[in-house]
Amino acid sequence: MDKNNSFKEKMLKLIYPNRCPFCDKVIPNQEYACNKCKALLPQYSVTVYANGGYPCAAPLRYTGCFADAVKRFKFNHHTGYSPNLAVLTVGAVLERFSAEEIAALDCVACVPMHPVDQRKRRYNQAELLAKDCAALMELPYEALLEKHKRNQVQHTLARSERPQNVRGVYRCVNKEAVRGKRVLLIDDIITTGATLGECARMLKKAGCKSVSCAVVCTVGEAL
Ligand SMILES: [Zn+2]
Repeated sequence: MDKNNSFKEKMLKLIYPNRCPFCDKVIPNQEYACNKCKALLPQYSVTVYANGGYPCAAPLRYTGCFADAVKRFKFNHHTGYSPNLAVLTVGAVLERFSAEEIAALDCVACVPMHPVDQRKRRYNQAELLAKDCAALMELPYEALLEKHKRNQVQHTLARSERPQNVRGVYRCVNKEAVRGKRVLLIDDIITTGATLGECARMLKKAGCKSVSCAVVCTVGEAL
């Protein structure tokens, strides 16, 4: 079985070679970016806050080639970027949260998409990223939330309208898996923090002990 998996993996890597998320050039399998783009990476990651005060680690700002990487990952089926972006996301978690906080984490979850939207896109980039972060951190990935109502796309709304637009659209689907747990919640970007904040609120409502967040890019200002 393992042998088959590794054969399959090798074949997939021949068909879909590893690419630098920031310039899309082919890079060796063990690398997460090309040397040219690595030199552009910020020296430090930042902590921003989701609504409700949940801390969110972010390695990158949503600008230039970093924003382009997230756009290709999200809208252009560049799903192969996920493990590479996860390296940076986990790096930010390790930098921004204490060793005690990280050691106490129980699982990794993601901001879900509405099933209709996910069928259209064919994947949820936040889910791919969360699974790759979980694998790197040797934590279980858990599908804890679902989006049961379709709302307007957040970035089409004014900042002040966003908390109301996400309120009540997510719910916890596995209360047993949530109760008493410390969850690392993953999304691709944080803008106003309304979406991550609402997801965190639903996890807390379902009885989880703590929620910390991590994303690839922050659009807002770091605190
Ligand atoms: Zn590059």
